[in-house]
Amino acid sequence: MIKIALPKGRIADETLEIFRKIFALDFQFEDRKLILDEGNFQFLMVRNQDIPTYVTEGAADIGIVGLDVLEEHKVDVVRLLDMRIGQCKVCVGIREQDVLDYTRPELKIATKMPNIARNYFSQKAIALKIIKLYGSIELAPLVGLADAIVDVVETGTTMKQNGLKVAETIMQSSAYLIANKNSFITKKAEILSLYHKIKTQINQK
Ligand code: AMP
Repeated sequence: MIKIALPKGRIADETLEIFRKIFALDFQFEDRKLILDEGNFQFLMVRNQDIPTYVTEGAADIGIVGLDVLEEHKVDVVRLLDMRIGQCKVCVGIREQDVLDYTRPELKIATKMPNIARNYFSQKAIALKIIKLYGSIELAPLVGLADAIVDVVETGTTMKQNGLKVAETIMQSSAYLIANKNSFITKKAEILSLYHKIKTQINQK
């Protein structure tokens, strides 16, 4: 049996759709249930940022998680496959009327991704103050909490609606299939078989 951690929301829905097509089974979570047993699989419904913990700790053999989360948390797992779903970008956002001013003595950046932000700006040799937030990041520059934000942008609507614009793009992201290092040894045949099936299914799209 393979245990699979899925991130709640659209990526979980799209992944289950891929599994339905491959195995012709009804992979569907009952309302509010967090575990789904079907065929040789046990799916776990997990918050996006918690996927690395489930997979590195071995509570799940494999997982689906955004590249942005893998980069932020420097996760020690096997990266198997770019699923080409959940595509987005990690961007620096500022107010429409502003320019990103690298001559400031200190740049205040609001983000839920402090490591990605620190890595990116450290190459530009400016002093940085990270304001760690957990949501509604777009609010920070509007109320003077930060000069800029580092956040995930998908359609760009949220930034636009809040009078912000993308100043710079740090990285492209999409959902990756990852595996626990130990599971990848003990369940190698099963995981690789699944990997090939998913890869074939994705390429048919
Ligand atoms: P959008 O308005 O489509 O650009 O979406 C941006 C908002 O949705 C931001 O507040 C992001 O934090 C959030 N968001 C969009 N895509 C993702 C994603 N793949 N993972 C996490 N958060 C996301």
